[in-house]
Amino acid sequence: MIAESDKDLKRLNTLGLSAKAAWYAAPCSVRDIKELLNDSRFAAMQKLVLGSGSNTLFSGDYNGLVIHPAIKEISITEISDTTIKLKVGAGVDWDKFVAYCVDRGWGGVENLSGIPGCVGASPVQNIGAYGSEAKDTIELVDYIDISTCEERRITAAECRFGYRDSIFKQKLKGKTIITFVTFELALNPIINTTYADVKEMLSSTENPTLFDIRKAIIDIRTAKLPDPAEIANAGSFFKNPIVEESFAEKIKESNPTLRLYPSSPGYTKIPAAWLIEQCGFKGVRESNVGVHQNHALVLLAYEGATGRELLEFAQKIKRTVKARFSIDIDMEVNVTVSS
Ligand SMILES: Cc1cc2nc3c(=O)[nH]c(=O)nc-3n(C[C@H](O)[C@H](O)[C@H](O)COP(=O)(O)OP(=O)(O)OC[C@H]3O[C@@H](n4cnc5c(N)ncnc54)[C@H](O)[C@@H]3O)c2cc1C
Repeated sequence: MIAESDKDLKRLNTLGLSAKAAWYAAPCSVRDIKELLNDSRFAAMQKLVLGSGSNTLFSGDYNGLVIHPAIKEISITEISDTTIKLKVGAGVDWDKFVAYCVDRGWGGVENLSGIPGCVGASPVQNIGAYGSEAKDTIELVDYIDISTCEERRITAAECRFGYRDSIFKQKLKGKTIITFVTFELALNPIINTTYADVKEMLSSTENPTLFDIRKAIIDIRTAKLPDPAEIANAGSFFKNPIVEESFAEKIKESNPTLRLYPSSPGYTKIPAAWLIEQCGFKGVRESNVGVHQNHALVLLAYEGATGRELLEFAQKIKRTVKARFSIDIDMEVNVTVSS
């Protein structure tokens, strides 16, 4: 198993942050991953799993082994009259997987078109967009326990999926290498146009197909979201906070234009973008970091930005929102910790 030392990670994170990993390896199979974990050079080293780095903030150099699972296989594990199950390698590009399904008429992931990243990361924060979440189609997750090197398989229920959350961000945080994700897709797809932007975009399309949905969503995303290739970012930097309904209603009383979104019974989701905008950060640039002019939830890293600088700016936004609204906004982005 080839491992590179002193690896530059700048091109391996969409924030384009300069950072070095003491060691880096991209194993292509379960066997290679096990071989790497059993390599005595790395036994005592801290380890970080990296997909495409589109949801990762390098706070500095990583004094350990960065592992990029590069398993690229896709196989059919079961077909019934109505569904098909696909076991997909962690290293498959998420959007290529979506295109693969749409091309074959298999429904369930089309609303997640255009999300950057690898399939292996999709259960970690239960990726979601345009009225759909990864949990809607995930059936099983296979992983290797980093400390014991044992292979494990858990069901969707055991993944404890929530809003941008799962067991991989909680109890199993930093402890696993996801190797495969099994998805159950519909052979007779139900088209989901519940999300207002999608509905509007397809208003003149009669009986939209999976292709129509995919195209509409990619068009909406391209028009709305900054491309990391042009301006470095990690998508939504913060999660939308969930607060008690009565508390949210009080804020809405003095801010009638605020749109609230239902969450679990008695709770409401408030758009973090609105809170950040109200605090005056939208479009603001401070030295090498800033907030996008159209998207208050998207933090930007300009050329020369460091992870520490971006983190301090994010903390400042968080403190300001807390002081003004008494609401904690939590980061969606994963911040690396290196000892
Ligand atoms: C422009 C832009 C738009 C985005 N839009 C959306 C959106 O609409 N919805 C959404 O949910 N997200 C969105 N994101 C965030 C991001 O694309 C997703 O979170 C994606 O799943 C991250 O994949 P990745 O491979 O880049 O993960 P990374 O950033 O490499 O890793 C993310 C986390 O997952 C862990 N991880 C990654 N792979 C594995 C593995 N195989 N095993 C165990 N742990 C692993 C990492 O350790 C890290 O903690 C967006 C990001 C960008 C830049």
